[in-house]
Amino acid sequence: MQNTVPTQPQVGPATADPDEYLAFLRDRRELILQRASEAARRSGRDLDQVGMLAVSKTVGPDEVYLAWQAGYRAFGENRPQELRRKLAGVAQHPDMAGVRFDMIGNLQKNKINMVLGNVTLIHSVRSTELARAISSRSVSHGVVTHFLMEVNVSGEESKSGYTPDQARADAEEVAALPNMQLDGLMTMAPKNDPDVARETFNGLRQLEEELRTRTGRPLPVLSCGMSDDFQIAIEEGATLVRLGRTVFDPHHDLK
Ligand SMILES: *Cc1c(COP(=O)(O)O)cnc(C)c1O
Repeated sequence: MQNTVPTQPQVGPATADPDEYLAFLRDRRELILQRASEAARRSGRDLDQVGMLAVSKTVGPDEVYLAWQAGYRAFGENRPQELRRKLAGVAQHPDMAGVRFDMIGNLQKNKINMVLGNVTLIHSVRSTELARAISSRSVSHGVVTHFLMEVNVSGEESKSGYTPDQARADAEEVAALPNMQLDGLMTMAPKNDPDVARETFNGLRQLEEELRTRTGRPLPVLSCGMSDDFQIAIEEGATLVRLGRTVFDPHHDLK
């Protein structure tokens, strides 16, 4: 849920028995890759076309390091303060050079400077006003910021993001903003309804095709699919899935 602020674990799963937790992370990763590969095959795609973000917002830096050891190379955070805490953790581990972090959550304008230059991709640009603000700060920092427009495809009220019509209307403008590179679209599907999730992801992909024509940009990234619906998302064309619980939580039931 968009509004749920994850609680920061004081004692994460890594504290009790790091070796056991690492073994869990490795086994679970194998299973996730297997499920992802089956989903890719069902839709005639290759697993190489699908990237995976381990969403680390509910775990601490120790768990992130173990996840790195288990093979994850890219992480997603939804709060700038948490991002900063994770980056401080990474700095303790020289072998984590090259780790990728993406911003996937609500970004307030006064926090933009905390993420600029620290993330590979911002998934959660929900308004053109925010895009303009990121652009002007990117210009002053001398960086180019890669981003996605977050679209509320399903129209669920609790979800944020552009409506598809707003995205159509504003895509050309945001794609042309200085020091900004529009890489594609992101969405979240309503929970617990596989059919609606499929329609949502399919709608996102169709919208992306339209926006390619409108903007003349390649828009290579389709960011959709979470722990409970990533297999559907891959079948519908996701190029980047964002997995939290199924990566880090031994109690998550991976179907
Ligand atoms: C928390 C979160 C995820 C991961 O959700 P899970 O269901 O735990 O896999 C993905 N995307 C966004 C934007 C999130 O906030």
